[in-house]
Amino acid sequence: MNFNGISFDTYFKHYPDANGFFGKYGGAFIQPELRAAMEEITHAYYTICKSSKFIAELRKIRKEFQGRPTPISHLERLSTHIGTGVQLYVKREDLNHTGAHKLNHCMGEALLAKYMGKKKVIAETGAGQHGVALATAAAYFGLECDIYMGAVDIKKQAPNVARMKILGANVIEVTEGLQTLKEAVDAAFSAYAKEYKDAIYCIGSVLGPHPFPMMVRDFQSVVGIEAREQFLEMTGELPDAIVACVGGGSNAMGLFSGFLNVPVDIYGIEPLGRGTALGDHAASLKYGTEGIMHGFNSIMLKDENGEPAPVYSVASGLDYPSSGPEHAFLHDLGRVKYDVVDDDETIDAFFTLSRLEGIIPAIESAHAVAYGMKLARQMSHGSLLINLSGRGDKDMDYIIERYGIR
Ligand SMILES: *Cc1c(COP(=O)(O)O)cnc(C)c1O
Repeated sequence: MNFNGISFDTYFKHYPDANGFFGKYGGAFIQPELRAAMEEITHAYYTICKSSKFIAELRKIRKEFQGRPTPISHLERLSTHIGTGVQLYVKREDLNHTGAHKLNHCMGEALLAKYMGKKKVIAETGAGQHGVALATAAAYFGLECDIYMGAVDIKKQAPNVARMKILGANVIEVTEGLQTLKEAVDAAFSAYAKEYKDAIYCIGSVLGPHPFPMMVRDFQSVVGIEAREQFLEMTGELPDAIVACVGGGSNAMGLFSGFLNVPVDIYGIEPLGRGTALGDHAASLKYGTEGIMHGFNSIMLKDENGEPAPVYSVASGLDYPSSGPEHAFLHDLGRVKYDVVDDDETIDAFFTLSRLEGIIPAIESAHAVAYGMKLARQMSHGSLLINLSGRGDKDMDYIIERYGIR
């Protein structure tokens, strides 16, 4: 399929290019000490990911440890409730081991670490979800695991800190600056610059310098490959549209990669939070401009000094001031339509899906559900597939405290 001059049948051969660019986005804008480390990872990945031994081991892990394939569920009661005849379906990443899609790339990254002979994985975490997924992967492979986390986040996210420690990870408290995600990223990167001979850095989404946006996409593509096959088998056709929430953009790239070359409308949904003022949302593709941060060129939200702007979302997994470079590319091409839903629409969808279907979604995933419901109301027929990136167990305390039981 051709779209705006790009052939999506050969898309994955050409994007990213040899230097990690998706059009003008991506690349590797990093300190010289880390350049050798990134080149080593890139080289290892290009070699190892094609070896039949690596592929066979990853397949076995997907099936026997993660519980894949995850099913697609037909949301019959929600479809009836909306009443336009449009049928809604969800891809159940909430049923992936540890309750979200993040383990798909963490297992891949840790397996790569093992093949490269590394002893340790290093990462930062904000809300703790990436830290827990990586600690899980490290425990599985018997790797050491250092997770850098701001002191403020450590206090806020006590259950995830406990999980990481139970899984054997070292949670390293970062006390610089505002003591949150940004400082944790800096601390983790400088630790990695010293330790890269024995360690590998594991990024938590389709972000960071090349090769991470490509590698994380490839590891997440299992979601889209499974979903396309399953949907065809269930219904005899492709969905008319697919929807996923976009923070960094890994669950979305996973689903989208299975559908880029077929005539399916694709929607990436960003958090509008409390509204359109800078600081009240994290809709970087919708309101941002081109810029470089955290080692890559993309579309980002900037403050008056051109630095990453403060962002907000009710979903802590979506509050990042940029998105992966491939999303910026697909945005400019128009192949994926990026839109927003706010906190209120999200929380409504959270309760509606729980009550009508017996599925409590992660608040991140509820953004995609909210948009899917909106879209279904505007369509007169057809089908919609939504990526349910994770389950909502982690959000229970927050929901009860802030919204009560509806
Ligand atoms: C972390 C997280 C996200 C956001 O990350 P992406 O890289 O944008 O997918 C979405 N949903 C859940 C459940 C998460 O834990």
